[in-house]
Amino acid sequence: MGAELVDVDELLTRYDPVVGLEVHVELNTATKMFCGCATGFGADPNTQVCPVCLGLPGALPVVNAAAVESAIRIGLALNSQIAPWCRFARKNYFYPDMPKNFQTSQYDEPIAFDGYLDVDVEDPAGGTSVFRVPIERAHMEEDTGKSLHVGGTTGRIHGADHSLVDYNRAGIPLIEIVTRPIVGAGSRAPAVARAYVAALRDLLRSLGVSDVKMEQGSLRCDANVSLRPRAGEDPAGPDQLDVPLGTRTETKNVNSLRSVERAVRHEMSRHAAILDAAEPVTQETRHWHEDTGMTTAGRPKSDADDYRYFPEPDLVPVAPSHEDVERLRASLPEPPAQRRKRLQAQWGYSDLEMRDVVNADALDVIEQTVAAGASPAAARKWWTGDLARRANQMALPVTGLGVTPAHIAELDEMVRAGRVNDSMARQVMDGVLAGEGTPAQVAEDRGLALVQDDAALEAAVDEVIAANPGIAEKIRGGKVNAVGALIGQVMKQMRGQADAAKVRELILSRLT
Ligand code: ADP
Ligand code: MG
Ligand code: ZN
Repeated sequence: MGAELVDVDELLTRYDPVVGLEVHVELNTATKMFCGCATGFGADPNTQVCPVCLGLPGALPVVNAAAVESAIRIGLALNSQIAPWCRFARKNYFYPDMPKNFQTSQYDEPIAFDGYLDVDVEDPAGGTSVFRVPIERAHMEEDTGKSLHVGGTTGRIHGADHSLVDYNRAGIPLIEIVTRPIVGAGSRAPAVARAYVAALRDLLRSLGVSDVKMEQGSLRCDANVSLRPRAGEDPAGPDQLDVPLGTRTETKNVNSLRSVERAVRHEMSRHAAILDAAEPVTQETRHWHEDTGMTTAGRPKSDADDYRYFPEPDLVPVAPSHEDVERLRASLPEPPAQRRKRLQAQWGYSDLEMRDVVNADALDVIEQTVAAGASPAAARKWWTGDLARRANQMALPVTGLGVTPAHIAELDEMVRAGRVNDSMARQVMDGVLAGEGTPAQVAEDRGLALVQDDAALEAAVDEVIAANPGIAEKIRGGKVNAVGALIGQVMKQMRGQADAAKVRELILSRLT
């Protein structure tokens, strides 16, 4: 299909986009879904395996109770129904990194179903609005191993000299969360897709059930996209909701929030080009290419693909009691969106300030810093300002710099007590970042302290006024702005170790 891509704004006048998202999340349980093997990331290949997760004949699986609890908590947080009784099934297919030749999954009896997640979507005009994403189901399954194709240039099997398989990941608990087709988003469809994955990630993180690291693959997203004709504005014409859905493509493993939005936009453009040429869209999986922002064809995939599902005979059904479910419901944390609103009001941040805080992923650390005694304003300035910039340069999370909430609280206290000024505070922070100790130690060692000796300060002020009779005369004449020049000279004489506000006060008290 060599057709040109169609501009997204233009295609929206003629087509209505529909998106469906499948998110796989690896649980952070200590052991695997059906055996006692460890789950830690980054271990030597094939060191976290046993007969069960290697699929050796006769090995018997046992369900991980902690994983079931996490699945139920996820279902409840997604406003879903929890099945009082459900089973695992065998999904049969061959893949070298899946040693049993079937994946133990759930099929038509998911642990959670019929839910929704409300997500905040940024409006193009500024501000945000809430969009409700309908959730079809969340089910339990297990991850596959990992293949490594050696030789060749693409990392894919084509052109490789040989392949290696690591089964450490085989059997790690996965939850697959599947939305219903998301209709009614219109031009906001790509933004809704991104906002949904972001909100889901925040929710899973607040539940503490997963590392939710897209770059490490503990949260993976497949994005389904289709277009259908726009019904038009004619009130006598067909309702948009009645127009049948178009053929979808499924773009696999889109591994950043930004890519989710880009991949949806790209598929919309590509589908429009195909439909404009009166060709059929092929229902297939697609590979996402981060560098080009495009997708390429994967494998054809029909809704009737036959995996010969049948109930897993080696596992007992999962039947959580009403009491268990209610106990788990009572253990749910405050939903992230609600928590953000509460903290914003408590801290008095503007919408813009709050957005910076969220984008810098600094909500938790600011909460800890305020709890340690810093003012909300100071906590925000440090964590989203200087520290965020440095963390960014070093490609670290802001909490990875070695600066603690207690450090910020201590430094803020020094500023508020007038013991250091802002520029000294930054130098103190340099010292803390360099590992020189706590703010108090750094200030002491580097000799960073405002001169508290009023006599010395007054002497410097008098000296500078005497040396600048012209400027002094201007100020006496009412040109108060001229005071800046004198403040600068006094600060220089005090080698920066004076409180500029106090210097200003002293000069003005002598000249006005
Ligand atoms: P699969 O076997 O393809 O993975 P799933 O049911 O797991 O099927 O997921 C399919 C996803 O695609 C769901 O999120 C569903 O809502 C979505 N979907 C189904 N039909 C369409 C369509 N026509 N356009 C966009 N998304 C769709
Ligand atoms: Mg699926
Ligand atoms: Zn095992």
